Amino acid sequence: MNELHDEVWGNCLKVIRDNLTYQSFKTWFAPIKPIKLENNVLTIQVPSQFFYEWLEEHYITLLKKTIRNELGPGGRLEYSIVMDGAFSNDPYTIKIPTSNRKATTNPSVAMPIDLNSGSSKEIPNPFVIPGLKKIQVHSQLNEAYSFENFVEGDCNRLARSAGYAVACNPGKTAFNPLFLYSAVGLGKTHLAHAIGLQVKNNFPEKTVLYVAAEQFLQQFIDSVRNNNQNDFVHFYQMMDVLIIDDIHFISGKEKTQDVFFHIFNHLHQKGKQLVITSDKAPVELKGVEPRLLSRFKWGLAADLQVPDLETRIAILKKRIYKDGIEMPDEVIEYLAYCITTNVRELEGALISLMAQSSLNKKAITLELARQMIDKFVKNTTREISIDFIQKIVCDYFSIQVDALNSKTRKRDIVQARQLSMYFSKKHTKASLATIGLHCGNKDHATVLHACRTVTNLIETDKQFRLYVEELEKRIKF
Ligand code: ADP
Ligand code: MG
Repeated sequence: MNELHDEVWGNCLKVIRDNLTYQSFKTWFAPIKPIKLENNVLTIQVPSQFFYEWLEEHYITLLKKTIRNELGPGGRLEYSIVMDGAFSNDPYTIKIPTSNRKATTNPSVAMPIDLNSGSSKEIPNPFVIPGLKKIQVHSQLNEAYSFENFVEGDCNRLARSAGYAVACNPGKTAFNPLFLYSAVGLGKTHLAHAIGLQVKNNFPEKTVLYVAAEQFLQQFIDSVRNNNQNDFVHFYQMMDVLIIDDIHFISGKEKTQDVFFHIFNHLHQKGKQLVITSDKAPVELKGVEPRLLSRFKWGLAADLQVPDLETRIAILKKRIYKDGIEMPDEVIEYLAYCITTNVRELEGALISLMAQSSLNKKAITLELARQMIDKFVKNTTREISIDFIQKIVCDYFSIQVDALNSKTRKRDIVQARQLSMYFSKKHTKASLATIGLHCGNKDHATVLHACRTVTNLIETDKQFRLYVEELEKRIKF
């Protein structure tokens, strides 16, 4: 039996389908479920925040028109977003009126804590716009950056487990402060939020605050200007868990460092947890006072590395699943293969691919991914190097690149070495001697021999030929 909302949405879909390509329709409209129709408001359920934003950005006109056709000029549309439905038994939904887009871009509202209760003196909260009555600590945590959504790999295992330990026992582990560092886009901010969220989860009564160092700096400058520096310090000293992101922003800012030093000492002495992130290890941070640096080393400094291929694939899959989008495995693997710099770029490529598919009205295929990557990775005609070939071959056989340079006669390593030589001869301008030097310090005769062996095997061994074909694809994209 069809209910009214099914019928109305069904009618809308007919019109929408006529206005879109098959692929766009399938990607962006097929996953939508109508939920209810009340007071001329149709509520539709979308799989993710990303999905909602995409619809609002690209299809709002079409949606508005069709809804009004169906429901009359007063008809409205509301979205209900499944938040991480994959990971919780009870997906929580939020409602977003189409007319109120701004307010909805960040649905991750952590429970505010009322600090008035129990505290005798009112301390102005630098996060609150003056004029607002209540003083609240909004933890500033983004629900999307949870531990569930953080993929674990060799690249981040120490940082992740230390973070998790801290979240289970804030201030009580040896990891205080927990200092997380890495290059950009490798998950520091994500992990920092995850710790905060997990603390809130485990200990709802604890006051958690996430703040970007830049914001901290700005607030401090304001407090000096407004002559309420003490209040600023007191506010921060009330935290149970203080997470300060991108601490390198305060390098060279002596006064801000000075005030942070006092806050740090106070919190640390009281057994409160500090989590700090930075783009460099403490020893490499320039422009930071030695007394502050030495404190950064009191706890644990853990770094995040570039994820390996498997982890990159896992990250993409999780993201795609979360966003409720379908994509062939070969495309996912291809993206993970090509984008090796950091996770942010990887996600950027994914979004870019979905955009390409939708805007150019093409299905998400390997071919489309190739074209997109060509544009995405600026240096399209980049030269294929011996290192690059070795990396591809070794990744393919799951062996360490270093192994190629070892003396071992193990069959799989010998084979990987020979294949590296063969592809290097085929795709680079390097001489046999150079290739030999880079592939295990061999001479030119060994390289020549390797090339012949590979050519022979391609002709005689079917399985081997498949390896070579697959590798060839990966090397040439
Ligand atoms: P950083 O703060 O180190 O520059 P971010 O934490 O902002 O990096 O990470 C960039 C993007 O990559 C974010 O969208 C984040 O969710 C994602 N990301 C990074 N590492 C992981 C991981 N291990 N699992 C899932 N997503 C990740
Ligand atoms: Mg960050």
